[in-house]
Amino acid sequence: MMCRFLLRPCSECQKAGLNISAHKAAVVLMRPEYRSKLDPKYKRKIENIVRKYQKNEEEELNIPCPYCDVEVPQTSLYCEHCKYNLPYCIITGYHIVRNDIALCPKCQFPGILAEFSRSLTTDKTCPMCLSEISSSELIEVEKVPPENFDEEDVTTPNKNDSHK
Ligand SMILES: [Zn+2]
Ligand SMILES: [Zn+2]
Repeated sequence: MMCRFLLRPCSECQKAGLNISAHKAAVVLMRPEYRSKLDPKYKRKIENIVRKYQKNEEEELNIPCPYCDVEVPQTSLYCEHCKYNLPYCIITGYHIVRNDIALCPKCQFPGILAEFSRSLTTDKTCPMCLSEISSSELIEVEKVPPENFDEEDVTTPNKNDSHK
């Protein structure tokens, strides 16, 4: 007798399903009272969606552009305001900020100073060139030129005036 009900398409459910975002549905389903009733296969899927969504949300953080100080999403490698490509930290993958930059002594790729030195305490190699370096060798600079620096005058970074 129950089967007859189940065979009928549940249009109400479908309508409701369309009106609710995947994330919202996932959150509802992740509430403790729903968790135990879920098939583990779906549970994993939903957990992935929620985790992915939260990760994306985290990445939406804005940090100032190193050239014009306008807030740019930290995952964005281009500043809409000053039209520069933003160098990214080789440790975090986020664009760099002013005054907290360290260059690898071998490959000159920039990283966020704190992240770079922390990373070197666990892994003593530069993630970019794989050279063995120590945090004391990192070249601290105030800024690095934008990748498309030819288009505008930008003072050369410290590495060029370092005497031998
Ligand atoms: Zn900018
Ligand atoms: Zn390097």
